[in-house]
Amino acid sequence: MISTQKISKQFGDLVVLKDIDLEVEKGKVVVVIGPSGSGKTTLLRCLNLLEQPESGLISIDQQSIDFGKKLSKKEIRSFRKKSGMVFQTYNLFPHFTALQNVMEGPVTVQKVNKTEAKKRAVELLTKVGLKEKIDVFPYQLSGGQQQRVGIARAMAIDPKVMLFDEPTSALDPELVGEVLLVMKDLAKEGRTMVVVTHEMKFAKEVADEVIFMDEGKIIERGEPVDLFERPKEERTKKFLNLIN
Ligand code: ADP
Repeated sequence: MISTQKISKQFGDLVVLKDIDLEVEKGKVVVVIGPSGSGKTTLLRCLNLLEQPESGLISIDQQSIDFGKKLSKKEIRSFRKKSGMVFQTYNLFPHFTALQNVMEGPVTVQKVNKTEAKKRAVELLTKVGLKEKIDVFPYQLSGGQQQRVGIARAMAIDPKVMLFDEPTSALDPELVGEVLLVMKDLAKEGRTMVVVTHEMKFAKEVADEVIFMDEGKIIERGEPVDLFERPKEERTKKFLNLIN
């Protein structure tokens, strides 16, 4: 479902991603871990074209983008619809209700009619446990509830893959569980997901594969039991020791 070949990205002189090859099969959950600054967020943002790599190739659901060539706006627009992004800080529109936040993408980007978009938004908000909150504004919601709106909004464009960028790291500890629960449900439904997180328990329980990144490279990857219990690389061992 997702494949990247030799993705490289730099900001000025700083090389942030170096020749990243990533494969994610349909219905699988890949969790990306690694120290702060290792390039995890940039990798996700490249998959969603919020950042454009200098070179390499990304394919999602049979559409390929070759960064060696100039990309058309149309190409970028259609590729961005392949993935739904959930941000650390929710990024909801403060002046829109939960329902309006979820309807926004389909109505303005995809030109879905409002009745249809509303029906789907209500379904999605119900799915994330917020049926009672559809007409409420973000400031009236807890962080966990706001993030669940964020997940419903990302799903509203019916993306092929869901990308989660540290979705629980801005939350008070008691609110983390409700967001992880929604994510677990999505995984169970067979959604293809790439999740950057520090929640190792979630990674152990839900991930099909864990990827450890450091200094813009994938250092090691494997099933959670192998990577967490029997890491091969020194850098992985060191990182896991620090966080345990
Ligand atoms: P991680 O998610 O692993 O913490 P990031 O992908 O956020 O890592 O960042 C990797 C490196 O790229 C960091 O050194 C960060 O400061 C730098 N970086 C990220 N975004 C930008 C940007 N827009 N401009 C300049 N440097 C950036």
